[in-house]
Amino acid sequence: MTANATRVLVLNSGSSSVKYQLLDMRSGARLATGLVERIGEETSRLVHNPSAAGGERREAEGAIPDHEAALKAVAAELAADGLGLGSPELAAIGHRVVHGGLKFSAPTVIDEAVLKEIERLVPVAPLHNPANITGIRTAQALRPDLPQVAVFDTAFHTTMPEYAARYAIDVATADAHRIRRYGFHGTSHAYVSRRTAQLLGKAPQDVNVIVLHLGNGASASAVQGGRCVDTSMGLTPLEGLVMGTRSGDIDPAVTFHLKRVAGMSTDEIDELLNKKSGLLGLCGDNDMREIRRRIDAGGEDGARAALAFDIYIHRLKKYIGAYTAVLGRVDAVAFTAGVGENAAPVRAAAIAGLEGLGMSVDASLNAVRSDEARLISPEYARVAVAVVPTDEELEIAQQTYALVNA
Ligand code: AMP
Repeated sequence: MTANATRVLVLNSGSSSVKYQLLDMRSGARLATGLVERIGEETSRLVHNPSAAGGERREAEGAIPDHEAALKAVAAELAADGLGLGSPELAAIGHRVVHGGLKFSAPTVIDEAVLKEIERLVPVAPLHNPANITGIRTAQALRPDLPQVAVFDTAFHTTMPEYAARYAIDVATADAHRIRRYGFHGTSHAYVSRRTAQLLGKAPQDVNVIVLHLGNGASASAVQGGRCVDTSMGLTPLEGLVMGTRSGDIDPAVTFHLKRVAGMSTDEIDELLNKKSGLLGLCGDNDMREIRRRIDAGGEDGARAALAFDIYIHRLKKYIGAYTAVLGRVDAVAFTAGVGENAAPVRAAAIAGLEGLGMSVDASLNAVRSDEARLISPEYARVAVAVVPTDEELEIAQQTYALVNA
């Protein structure tokens, strides 16, 4: 790597999409961002935005058959702006990898053995890891000489103590099938907990934070002195909070019941709990903006949306309470991701009534719209309540760059 190599390309390969960002680590500039969606369909779409490099936003529609074609199209767009993958300024490619199991507790330079291990984890992450592997293999083919780094969604949670990570089931069965709580959204929880400490003017090791990552997927974590000690997602991202389309916590016997009594297949139950539950299952909408609009409009439909909202909030409150007990002392609660950063009514309702825990929200601070990390609790509050925009791409780029420069 040359001294001029200060750029990192971050790739987030999903089952039918690739999101990417090219960052310059010296200047901090986001040179280009974009995505390819609906890969494999006739109506694939590529959106490329190189505005920070002085280029024009471009959009193209047309069949992109697979990930290889998608990455080649991205590479061509970048090259058209003088940002091509062949550039000597590119230091590394950082890949978001969803499941790193127990093996990967830190970002890792990818070689064949690492790829094999990510492949071995496919049974516990059947939706995510195969797409991540395809993304890595394609990027390797395009730039075989360049370091490629895997940054795992599970890594931040590998510090969870055994008593938080184990399910209370037969140990031999659990171990034979690698059944335990891994947690996800780790890159976001790591970034937001650190940024929250910074907002308080303290070092991460001196601060205990409850991070509430509320997007379409949602998870909470308890972070003690910079280390994750508990998180709400488990073996898969299905456990925990009520989400856009996932049920979150549920009595496992519901699944036996659906099988034995409702006659549903395992795949149908999987789809019901992951894709047709949560806010969507409760009220027909998974977008919090639409749910708030319906509540404000009132009537019977508003009441249905309000019940979904209340169930969502009730579960959130339970996790805030549980993680207060886990941490013993809480310095801050941080809201992040699409809902956490934007939905003031969710933040207000989640914290309402928690004065006994030292938590409250200042209504006027909460109402301010901003892209900046900020406090929304009154000055007198024992626990700071913060809104901290997450930045998983920056975190992946920083971890990747630090590793290849180590
Ligand atoms: P994410 O998965 O982090 O991209 O979050 C996506 C979710 O954020 C959407 O499904 C919306 O429910 C929510 N969201 C985005 N913008 C707003 C907003 N202005 N108000 C309420 N919710 C929002």
